[in-house]
Amino acid sequence: YSRDRIRNFCIIAHIDHGKSTLADRLLEYTGTLTEREMDEQVLDQMDLERERGITIKLQAVRLSYKAKDGQQYLLNLIDTPGHVDFSYEVSRSLAACEGALLVVDAAQGIEAQTLANVYLALEHDLEIIPVINKVDLPSAEPERVKKEIEEVIGLDTGDAVYASAKTGLGVEEILEQIVEKIPPPKGETDAPLSALIFDSHYDPYKGVIAYVRVVNGIIKKGMNIRLMSTCKEMEVNEVGMFQPAMTDTGVLNAGEVGYFAASIKNVKDIQVGDTVTGTERPAAQPLPGYRKAVSMVFCGLYPVETVNYEDLRDALEKLKLNDAALVYEPETSAALGFGFRCGFLGLLHMEIVQERLEREYNLLLITTAPNVVYQVTTTSGDVFRVENPHNLPPQDLLVKIEEPFIKATIMVPKDFVGGVMELCQEKRGEFKNMEYLSPERVMLIYEMPLSEIIFDYYDQLKSRTKGYASLDYDLAGYKETDLVKLDILIGGEVMDALSMIVHKDKAYYRGRALVERLRKLIPRQMFEIPVQASIGNKVIARENIKAMRKDVLAKCYGGDITRKRKLLEKQKEGKKRMKQVGNVEIPQEAFMAVLSIN
Ligand code: GDP
Ligand code: MG
Repeated sequence: YSRDRIRNFCIIAHIDHGKSTLADRLLEYTGTLTEREMDEQVLDQMDLERERGITIKLQAVRLSYKAKDGQQYLLNLIDTPGHVDFSYEVSRSLAACEGALLVVDAAQGIEAQTLANVYLALEHDLEIIPVINKVDLPSAEPERVKKEIEEVIGLDTGDAVYASAKTGLGVEEILEQIVEKIPPPKGETDAPLSALIFDSHYDPYKGVIAYVRVVNGIIKKGMNIRLMSTCKEMEVNEVGMFQPAMTDTGVLNAGEVGYFAASIKNVKDIQVGDTVTGTERPAAQPLPGYRKAVSMVFCGLYPVETVNYEDLRDALEKLKLNDAALVYEPETSAALGFGFRCGFLGLLHMEIVQERLEREYNLLLITTAPNVVYQVTTTSGDVFRVENPHNLPPQDLLVKIEEPFIKATIMVPKDFVGGVMELCQEKRGEFKNMEYLSPERVMLIYEMPLSEIIFDYYDQLKSRTKGYASLDYDLAGYKETDLVKLDILIGGEVMDALSMIVHKDKAYYRGRALVERLRKLIPRQMFEIPVQASIGNKVIARENIKAMRKDVLAKCYGGDITRKRKLLEKQKEGKKRMKQVGNVEIPQEAFMAVLSIN
């Protein structure tokens, strides 16, 4: 393909507006996959993504399309995630495109992530093609949605495509508009190589596979290349494209999207966002970087069995390659032993990483409750970040504690505005603005502490609006607030893994509720054990875990033998997630108990 027949594009949408389904239709229509080959929603490859019906990792495929002008075009489709946690991945895929399909559900209209993604696309100067999807639905209101797009985003919707990813309506029109409206990639094949690494994964046979968008020059098999951030050099031993499976083509030209392998064993050698150039004729400077991932939430990950520490480290290292947003460093806990403190984009990201570690690497983990990063100023004038609440210096050494705030954009039908405002108030939110998107729908802007969002905010928002609210947020900076450290003592010992930082007004309530919950979660032990909550040295709540009764097991005898065996098996199963701390056995749930307290 000559460069003027190449189009690189992505699809941006709010979650559930039909991005994956539309991608499938585009693949089908262009014959990229035969119907039999076509497993539903090929772009969502990871099991987890399928189960949850969300797109996390961006994927790239290559479509070949014969347009009405009689010419054959090469269309590179780069999939983007739709969840608020992953907007940074969206930014990565946008950097590899010249255009974007903006998919909006005709029955829903613009939602919080639609807006967030459009702003990102505009930042990257992309040509935006509005697609009003799901027009087959009886509740579809394409005219209203078109008006919303014009008024709220300011995009011309004169050529907006009415589509149904379900029936295939509008698919040809979309392909034609991609060809007509999205500019071909710029860049010169004769110039020195510069290619942007936008993703990577680890292959046990080929080593690290880097996903690249070639901006200038060519990359081919046998060539010596250099990674510009580290100056590491290597020989390329495979180059190819996604069709959608990796297909060896031997070469990638300026404007093309594909992958290369270079027997890279060390996962740390390839960094997403880095620029690849040739050793012989290097580019003068690296390509401009794009938005870096910011870890919003941290938690501790510990192997249930101490011997699995090294396995956990290897697994994190491999996962990190697939997931540049994951950060981690070793941490030691008096209660839990050797583990890692890990940083995530948000709670969903955290859950996904935990699940992948357990499923793909067969690890059993204890996870501590998530927390945000605090910024602390001490009386000696030091300013530093606290990623683990346990490490907060004593109150009398502190000048101030600052916590991260977000700017939340919430879109909701007008009848639910009252409920949403009440919720935001409860979460220490500060009202900033309210705007009518249409006579029926309202956009609310609040500034809220991130720590309040990461607990149950999103679930509450959904339940108080019957699922109609959508949320997007951006970091808005740090603010000083009245925070204290709440410690939990079990058997008189502080459990470092259970310490948390909370707002003073909520500390007493949280402490009492947590202690009560822990009493229920921690099984009876050989001796009576006190569970206490304290602020500074002051105990604010106490409960006792009673000693085990001697006849617990005896009860099982005399009954039917299989029932007893089942019981013991079940016990063993549960034990796996128990952590022996001193002489107390603590179940996984105890470490997350704080999440179930309002
Ligand atoms: P994504 O989260 O944006 O990737 O959305 P999906 O492609 O997973 O679609 C979400 C849901 O909407 C799925 O149940 C789809 O079957 C459904 N869906 C997608 N497009 C259409 C459409 O054009 N019409 C109808 N009726 N349903 C659709
Ligand atoms: Mg999807």
